[in-house]
Parts: sequence; structure tokens; C-alpha cells
Amino acid sequence: MIRNYAKYKDASEEDREKFLKLKNEREGKFENKIKTDVSNLPLFFKNADNDPVWDELNDRCLGCGRCNIVCPTCYCFDVYDCMDLNMTSGERCREWDACTLKDFAVVSTGENFRSTRGQRLRHRFNRKFNYLMTKYNASFCVGCGRCTRSCPVNIDVVETVNTIIKNNRNHE
Ligand code: SF4
Ligand code: SF4
Repeated sequence: MIRNYAKYKDASEEDREKFLKLKNEREGKFENKIKTDVSNLPLFFKNADNDPVWDELNDRCLGCGRCNIVCPTCYCFDVYDCMDLNMTSGERCREWDACTLKDFAVVSTGENFRSTRGQRLRHRFNRKFNYLMTKYNASFCVGCGRCTRSCPVNIDVVETVNTIIKNNRNHE
């Protein structure tokens, strides 16, 4: 599309320098930063199953699911049947789901594999910074900060990741 329809020119050395200057200026404005190279995060999270931060977040988190619903990389959904009163017809419905909600990990026999809010948040963070990163070699958090901004109890994604990093380093 660009080749066929856009008016463009190749970037000059001056353009490149301008771009790098702006990029550095922009990066300097972010005060809240993850304190390691993002590619190291799976290693930190692999050692963080018993990190005290999950107990602390367990006490703060409300299990409201807002962080999932606003996240551009969360895609989980649920499918269920809405029966009509005659019980012979109905609709199969699909709606957004969220791994921080209480019943997300309930299975058909009734067990809940992540019954506490801390366990559910640990799962959410591992999905962003460990499981999918390990599988696809790419971060599943785009750093938009929407989850932090939307959380009613101010659970901050960067602060949480940095706590995991700090606690891991303290054990070294
Ligand atoms: S900062 Fe990361 S985890 Fe939070 S909403 Fe954005 S992409 Fe999702
Ligand atoms: S938005 Fe905050 S309180 Fe709600 S589930 Fe997410 S972390 Fe917990």
C-alpha cells in the first residue's frame, strides 16, 4: 500500500538522527521503568511462584477483572448456553472472560484451581511475562499502562514486576 499509494522518500542520515533524538527524548520521559531487559523477565518469573508479593496482592486485589478487560493483549472468553424457558431452544453465547475473576479456573467437577486473588494475579503476570514470552520469544505486555490506570486499588504492573526482580536479586 505504501509503495503504491503513499508519497514517500527514503530517510536521509539527518532524518535518522532526528528520529533517534526524539526516541531518546521520549524514553527519558518514562519514569516508571522495568529494571531489567524485558527479555530477562521469564527467568525472574520462573523463580517467583512463592514470592511474597502474591500474598501482598492477594490482600489488596478486589478480583474485579478490570485489568484484564482493558488490556489490549488479553483475549480470553467464555462460552455458555442461555436456555429459553421452554428448555428446548436457546442460544450459545460468547462473552469476554478474565483470569482475575473468581470462577475463571473452575472446572466441571467444581474444583477451582486458582481460588485466591493472589493465585489469579500470579497467573496473569506469568501469562504476560513468562509463559507466552517463553513460547513465542516476545513480550505479551505492550506497556500501555491501562491495567495500572484502571485498577481501583492502584496495583501497578511495573511496580509489581520490579518487586519480583528485586526479591529475586535479594535471593542471589
Ligand atoms: S500494561 Fe501490559 S498488562 Fe497492562 S493493560 Fe497494557 S498490555 Fe496489558
Ligand atoms: S483491576 Fe486491580 S483490583 Fe481489579 S482484578 Fe485487576 S489487579 Fe485486582
